Amino acid sequence: LAVAAAALALAGTACSSPAATVEPAAVTSKGTIGIAMPTKLSQRWISDGENIVKQFEALGYETDLRFADDDVQEQIAQIGDMVDKKERALVVGAIDGSQLKAVLQKAADADIPVISYDRLIRDTPNIDYYATFDNFKVGVQQAGAVVQALEGAGPGPFNVELFAGSADDNNATFFFNGAMSVLQPHIDSGRFVVRSGQTQFADVATQQWSGDVAKARMEGLLAGTYSSARVDAVLSPYDGITRGILDALKSAGYGPGGKPLPVLTGQDAELDSVKLIAGGEQTQTVYKDTRELAKVAVQMTNSLLTGGTPMVNDTEQYDNGVKKVKTFLLQPVNVDATNYERILVDGGYYTAEQVKG
Ligand code: BGC
Repeated sequence: LAVAAAALALAGTACSSPAATVEPAAVTSKGTIGIAMPTKLSQRWISDGENIVKQFEALGYETDLRFADDDVQEQIAQIGDMVDKKERALVVGAIDGSQLKAVLQKAADADIPVISYDRLIRDTPNIDYYATFDNFKVGVQQAGAVVQALEGAGPGPFNVELFAGSADDNNATFFFNGAMSVLQPHIDSGRFVVRSGQTQFADVATQQWSGDVAKARMEGLLAGTYSSARVDAVLSPYDGITRGILDALKSAGYGPGGKPLPVLTGQDAELDSVKLIAGGEQTQTVYKDTRELAKVAVQMTNSLLTGGTPMVNDTEQYDNGVKKVKTFLLQPVNVDATNYERILVDGGYYTAEQVKG
């Protein structure tokens, strides 16, 4: 009681006396940070949001976390509202990286710094820094898994189909280009054959990373191109897309008791997909520790707000159409049946029960 009374007295002093200079950390907010995340449809963005909040709060900031249901206009409105509320900085995981120009001009006019989170925001000078994973390398790892899995399977040729992410997400082309840097020589040599002929990004992109859109495209491929042939591998850029592809494959007679499932890649190490890896239905995923990404973004923001210079390790790769954006790149990790327990369970991302359950 005495402690509470003292704290109250202290808080009272801090509020009423302009001369008070030392305030207890707990009652001193450093202001509010706006955090705009794209969607709750995928667990990764929920974890990103929660991790960012936790780490800002640990530094004494308040947070305003919003999710926009993959609705571009909704995200623009949310960011506009954060600017109107004069929040101190914005951390933005964009839905459509090219649609935020106007609202970020508004942020710049209000002197609010912006960190582009995971996805590069394009066509605006008004982003300060970019925190992400090495996106090209993600694609290299996915395609590397395809090559490796087919290595012991004889001389081929092997039928491979390609899926890419959402065209409005700058990352999607990086993933695809990284993957094609590995696959193209095999396609050129004839060892890998894309029977559908769909090898251009525009042909294989998946609007809003939707598993349902991917499932429908895979069903079309299986009913047409593969009515009398077997698909040996499918490059998929994201676990949610992979699950859609897997549904289509199973409905077409692939899987236990039927044709062997093709090699299947993914990204994000989503729990449902880690279970599929443990069960032998998905070959690979790319694990990106969102706790680390949150840490980088929070440190960048705090550094900017306290007069420091955020640490970066790439200044060349990420040109957003207006400028090269200073970037901190984290390393993605290739995960498959041989290492998921060590990386994800021993690493504390999931418990053994979660993966088994
Ligand atoms: C992220 C990926 C994620 C995808 C779909 C990309 O921008 O970098 O980790 O799989 O969006 O949410």
